[in-house]
Amino acid sequence: MRVLLLGGTSEGRALAKALHPKVEIISSLAGRVPDPALPVGAVRIGGFGGVNGLRTWLRDEGIDAVVDATHPFAATITARAAEVCRELGVPHLVLVRPPWDPGDAVVVVSDVEAAEIVAEQRYSRVFLTTGRSGVKAFTDSGAWFLIRAVMAPDAALLPRHHQVLLSRGPYRYVDEFELLREHRIDALVTKNSGGDMTRAKLDAAAALDVPVVMVQRPPLPDGVTNVGTVQEVADWVARLG
Ligand code: NAP
Repeated sequence: MRVLLLGGTSEGRALAKALHPKVEIISSLAGRVPDPALPVGAVRIGGFGGVNGLRTWLRDEGIDAVVDATHPFAATITARAAEVCRELGVPHLVLVRPPWDPGDAVVVVSDVEAAEIVAEQRYSRVFLTTGRSGVKAFTDSGAWFLIRAVMAPDAALLPRHHQVLLSRGPYRYVDEFELLREHRIDALVTKNSGGDMTRAKLDAAAALDVPVVMVQRPPLPDGVTNVGTVQEVADWVARLG
């Protein structure tokens, strides 16, 4: 059994740890961030070169199964892996991190819609945590933004009034509470990433009565099989072997 693990997440690393060395795995990272946290076992880094590149790579490497443990918002690689695996008849499973309960948050379908809500509600001090690529929708906003991202957003896309905070989770409740309070944040904009590493901001926002605008996840491709835990993936792999 040779299994490709599409990763770049804490779940991807946990999965590699659960399977290695019993199962022959290759973890794949997109190569977006310098100095990424590496999973145990073999790792390859960089895009495959679209659907054709992925198809060729899977064949050349003699991959028997693919587990997609990418981030819930990494929709392109998820769609491509599903398409190529279906076409080649390679067993394919998606590990989906359970989403957060949005609670009282305003749920929107896109960054653009989140920006519309910010404008409509006249929020003026916004904690923007939708990542580097989420900034574009807010470029023309007149509000002030505390923008937290792993990598610096493109300078041309930054809104007029902002502060950029480069950092990587996990984040603790006490720190998130203090950050929101110190910057007098009046709205939190977040993706529904799910998981424990970045959820403390939601608890801090609730404690401070800060409204939340939450971008909903993109849907999974039709017909893919998905599970919610590393153990379920390990069981699935064991059944294949
Ligand atoms: P994306 O939009 O779905 O993918 C864009 C392209 O990046 C893909 O077409 C593929 O290039 C390459 N790619 C993505 N993930 C890859 C992987 N694991 N291995 C090899 N190539 C990969 O992805 P994204 O949203 O930019 O995310 C990139 C990576 O960062 C993912 O692995 C994801 O797990 C991780 N991540 C994403 C987020 C997020 O908010 N989106 C947050 C935390 C971590 P080719 O078409 O050339 O193969």
